[in-house]
Amino acid sequence: MKKILLLLQMSSLLFCAGSHAQHTGSILLKNASVIDGTGSAVRSNMDILITSGKIMAIQKDIKVSGAREVDLSGKTVMPSLICAHAHVGTLKGTTSSADNYTRGNLLRHLKKYEDYGVSTVLAMGTDRPLIFNGFIDSTQAGLLPGARLYSAGYGFNTPDPNPGSWMNLLLRPNSPDEVPAMMAQLAAVKPTVVKIWVDDHGGNAQKMKPEIYKAIIREAHLRNIGVAAHLFYAEDARKLTEAGIDIIAHSIRDKEVDQDLLVKMKEKNVTYIPTLSLDEYQFVYADRPDWVDDAFFKASLEPGVFEMITDKSYSEKIKSSPDYQRNMAAFKTAMVNLKKIYDAGIKVALGTDSGAFPIRTQGFTEHLEMELMVKAGLTPAQAITISTRNAARALQIDHDKGTLEKGKVADLIILSANPADDIRNTRKIESVWKEGKEVSKGPLQ
Ligand SMILES: [Zn+2]
Repeated sequence: MKKILLLLQMSSLLFCAGSHAQHTGSILLKNASVIDGTGSAVRSNMDILITSGKIMAIQKDIKVSGAREVDLSGKTVMPSLICAHAHVGTLKGTTSSADNYTRGNLLRHLKKYEDYGVSTVLAMGTDRPLIFNGFIDSTQAGLLPGARLYSAGYGFNTPDPNPGSWMNLLLRPNSPDEVPAMMAQLAAVKPTVVKIWVDDHGGNAQKMKPEIYKAIIREAHLRNIGVAAHLFYAEDARKLTEAGIDIIAHSIRDKEVDQDLLVKMKEKNVTYIPTLSLDEYQFVYADRPDWVDDAFFKASLEPGVFEMITDKSYSEKIKSSPDYQRNMAAFKTAMVNLKKIYDAGIKVALGTDSGAFPIRTQGFTEHLEMELMVKAGLTPAQAITISTRNAARALQIDHDKGTLEKGKVADLIILSANPADDIRNTRKIESVWKEGKEVSKGPLQ
């Protein structure tokens, strides 16, 4: 132990002695409470040295000359959020449509995510050719403002044109034989994952047949690409897990998961993205949720959406819908299942389905999702790790993103209160930093 301490002291001495002069242009964040995203406890009074957009050191009392110092006494620093199930470009006002998918609208959405401390999003299967001519590479390289964009390209759905009709470039194989050519077409845009929809949408649509999704999983794996499934039912989760699915991209909501499914998901190394916020949005505006008048929520809404969701007729429509009871029950089941799945040691990552429809508002929803994880029985620290490190792993960018550690990219949020005490404190954003530079004062500025 003594030896280790001595070594540590020596290395920090060397670090100080050897570091003068070369820190011009560096930033030194001083005296912060640090939540690093790895799951370790909050460390207080820490300094973070950032050079060329990367974290060089996180420790107490870093002494270097030439760095610009920022005193963060009383503040908390955490990694920026990463959303592994989002949609971009299609939302505008109270509509969601392929017609809205323009470069300007994409940049506007990515900026909104960034204002809310979301550094990176994975768009799940609703993208269009526009982004595959350099745009997506530029956002990932940090050359465009706003959150970095990753994409599942064009998702696979059933031949029935109805589900997902608002995103009209979906791949819709009639038979397994059609899958290889479609996969070749999709692979050309280098998707981060392949998205599939396996759902009967409450009995209103035909569900994708197992022989089709087996062919999709096989073809994707041949190209070393993972597959993420939209689903609803536990039995589909079981069959998809047996077939080799990599990501379950929504809550299992029809019934509680059993031991057999938990064991299989763990064995097959499945990542679970609960999207609890989506499940709550399905019914929550029937009554006025306690956050509906929060400025932090309202700032995320597209024009006209606040008026829509607070209109009496809107709440009455939800209450009289035949799906109202089913949706409330589904949310409760989803909450129970998240806790069971987390406790079984299955990987969980942040995803929200924000941006698919106007009520799934971008930016706010990622914070609501963390609150719902805590309501489901997870600790704030667990919810944060899920929303940073684990989501980075789901996007396979964790080698340099997702946590605050030496050598990682300095994507971080500075908060005026500590979310380890109350998860809602992730909303108290003072500033958002991307690659070591302040890029936003939060959504309310
Ligand atoms: Zn989605």
